[in-house]
Amino acid sequence: MDMSIWKQKRIILAAIAIIAVLAATLTYRDVFQAISAFAPHTYQNILVLDAGHGGMDGGAVAEDGTMEQDINLAIVRKCEAFAGLFGLHTMLTREDGNSIDYDPEQSIRANKVADIHARVRITNSVRNPIFLSVHLNKFTDSSYSGAQVFWSKNNPEGQLLAQQIQSTLTRGLSPVRERQAKQAADSIYLMKTLTCPAVIVECGFLSNAEEARLLAQDDYQKRLALCIIDGCLQYAEQS
Ligand SMILES: [Zn+2]
Repeated sequence: MDMSIWKQKRIILAAIAIIAVLAATLTYRDVFQAISAFAPHTYQNILVLDAGHGGMDGGAVAEDGTMEQDINLAIVRKCEAFAGLFGLHTMLTREDGNSIDYDPEQSIRANKVADIHARVRITNSVRNPIFLSVHLNKFTDSSYSGAQVFWSKNNPEGQLLAQQIQSTLTRGLSPVRERQAKQAADSIYLMKTLTCPAVIVECGFLSNAEEARLLAQDDYQKRLALCIIDGCLQYAEQS
């Protein structure tokens, strides 16, 4: 199908989905699953959606006790639904509140190693993976806010993907401070190990009370997920 026609259809399908959700008691997941049957599966990549942390490792914690791992998974679930609507296939690494391959007989350290290795194994098990890890930031200065995307230097496509997502996040969220996509630090295991296009999306700062409140909201998570998937689709259409 001609891509410009498909883009128009995509907008119409998205509008139908939103109206259907508002008008009825259907969930986004129900509607998106139904509509995704009509989406052309033209994308060569499979998007691996990685909810950061899990289990004993809750990640960053907000002042009110909200844990990063729960918000990460909520955003990933919304990304999964939006991607499905547009015909972009996904694979989730962590699907619940537990760490991956958790074994209660093993030490915390051994479980952490098993978890991170499982994320690599799952990513490498799919055809043409794009790896996208969702995290939240935390900093000592509570004035810091805004989403920021980091890329792995192992694959030059990662930088293009990161810049595309940063751009759709900036357009969609109109942040107080516009951040730029950056290369990830070498100390991040997944970023130095994976060889496919790989990015980390830090969706905002839990250490900023106003942003922490937004990050916990269902509607804001949907906006974040739409921006993230919009960036992925634009990348996938170009590559
Ligand atoms: Zn994190």
